[in-house]
Amino acid sequence: MPQGRHFLQIPGPSPVPDRVLRAMDMPVIDHRSSEFAELGKTVFDGCQKIFKTNGPVIIFPSSGTGAWEAAIVNTLSPGDKVLMVETGHFATLWRQMAARWGIEVDFIPGDWRHGADPADIEARLVQDEKRAIKAVMVVHNETSTGVTSRVGEIRAAMDRAGHQALLLVDTISSLGSVDYRHDEWKVDVTVSCSQKGFMLPPGLGFNAVSEKARAAAKINKMPRSYWDWDEMLKPNAAGFFPYTPATNLLYGLREAIAMLLEEGLDAVFARHKRLAAATRAAITHWGLEVLCLEPAEYSPVLTAVLMPPGHDADKFRKTVLDTYNMSLGSGLSKLAGKVFRIGHLGECNELTLIGALSGVEMGLSAAGVPHRAGGVEAAMKSLEERPQSNSPAH
Ligand code: PLP
Repeated sequence: MPQGRHFLQIPGPSPVPDRVLRAMDMPVIDHRSSEFAELGKTVFDGCQKIFKTNGPVIIFPSSGTGAWEAAIVNTLSPGDKVLMVETGHFATLWRQMAARWGIEVDFIPGDWRHGADPADIEARLVQDEKRAIKAVMVVHNETSTGVTSRVGEIRAAMDRAGHQALLLVDTISSLGSVDYRHDEWKVDVTVSCSQKGFMLPPGLGFNAVSEKARAAAKINKMPRSYWDWDEMLKPNAAGFFPYTPATNLLYGLREAIAMLLEEGLDAVFARHKRLAAATRAAITHWGLEVLCLEPAEYSPVLTAVLMPPGHDADKFRKTVLDTYNMSLGSGLSKLAGKVFRIGHLGECNELTLIGALSGVEMGLSAAGVPHRAGGVEAAMKSLEERPQSNSPAH
């Protein structure tokens, strides 16, 4: 049996803080009681602060994939055209889902090393003279690559094009870790889930919805039942759900929101950037390559690292797991074996990060992967020199 606490350094699920675990360690209560209604109202209000919206945030007992589906079936109709960008594995999966619902997807090709380009989106929208495109759908933080797209700039590009398409954004691995502004960026549906920046176990999916999205939901033609926003919003107004909610995850959510607000969202975002910068300092010192090629799009949440040619990332990850009891993220689909991913999100601080990077550096030696020793020291220096990082906003 491995000794000590397992280091869960995958980019979600992220480690659940003890405070959140304790908050969930409660008897299950009656979900039709006034006690539950108080819990419901508190988490709905708290979610508005995290999503930065005055509109409703719908909470489904689901994974993030369910929340993706809810966004599609409430706003679009079979045969509708949407614009998406191939930022990586998750954008590709969301596209597949849209196609299965009969949506025609214009998929801007990408190299999995850059984010969605606002200029490309603007050009496609300008070309769409007949206004056939009903929605632009982007992944904010592409968890498969460690690249964060600039949603604020994408919004500005859509405005410049004068196009009325809805904006649907997947913030599954960014919310609560990376600056995000649902209302200010006029996002119509923000999709998220519980197991990343919210520091909860998996099991909650979120849709923050704009007035425009709700208007689209009134006239779209997609069949739906479980995912129907209106079915949810009616009881939500009084703090209730239309069916049995994930009561104890909601206790955890209440606590996690309190933790994020106590630290302050800006401080949370700065901490993630600081840890990400230190991670990149280690990687660069080791002589390895960060997958993301655009510094303005470096992910504050995770860093994907390219293995040197001839070395298998999964073999390296197994060495790290077997020797040091630490899980690193694998390369997904076309990146399998080629990259490993270091998660530095949620309940992560300077010392957890240095522990994780030490595990990577020792693992590189144990697996015989060529590298220059001293990456951990470079990360420590970065943390000492940059207590308040001012790296680019997304
Ligand atoms: N979108 C992104 C960006 C993700 O990182 C993930 C999961 O990691 C998903 C969607 C799918 O979420 P889930 O696995 O909770 O269904």
